[in-house]
Amino acid sequence: MLNLILFGPPGAGKGTQAQFLTQSFDLIHLSTGDLLRQEIKAETPLGKEAKQLIDKGELVPDQVVIEMIKNKFAANPDAKGFIFDGFPRTVAQAKALDNLLEENKTPIKAMLCLEVERQELIDRILFRGKTSGRSDDQDVWIIEKRISVYNKKTAPIKEYYEAQNKHFPIDGMGTVDEIASRLKNTVRSL
Ligand code: ADP
Repeated sequence: MLNLILFGPPGAGKGTQAQFLTQSFDLIHLSTGDLLRQEIKAETPLGKEAKQLIDKGELVPDQVVIEMIKNKFAANPDAKGFIFDGFPRTVAQAKALDNLLEENKTPIKAMLCLEVERQELIDRILFRGKTSGRSDDQDVWIIEKRISVYNKKTAPIKEYYEAQNKHFPIDGMGTVDEIASRLKNTVRSL
């Protein structure tokens, strides 16, 4: 199995690049953001609770996203591997993911970290907000809050994977194709 984490701040291009990687390496894409948006669309109790937090730029509780990932992992027993996108977002989530993968004897191979300048992130998210319909993409205050939550709670995970020699920084500036080749080359070299 080939298990990858696609990591980086909001607007780094994780969702876009995950699509290329899933195609190239025949993997299953697991995005907690997409899963939460499906719950919101279906107006489930979980979706309603999540929407309140997402619209403030805050994180959904660890236990909620960990359960989602466990369910999706168990639902795909024949997968050749997974790309985790938007998860883990806290050290507690990273530890829970390691435990889950350890139980299944299929560890994380690499954490691919897209590095993008702050202003570029804001510009990309605002541009996406014109068509995404995502309320959290339309307001600069919420976007800045998401970036600061990332810096405070999510970025420290880099050290967690660095300690396992699994952290691979990738230049996330440039065209979609350029970034896709950088990612593909890194995965091929693993
Ligand atoms: P982005 O990377 O652009 O912020 P996502 O689609 O990954 O977008 O996530 C949207 C929102 O969903 C986040 O701002 C957060 O509120 C919530 N969310 C997604 N994944 C997680 C997670 N692993 N832990 C906690 N909250 C999450």
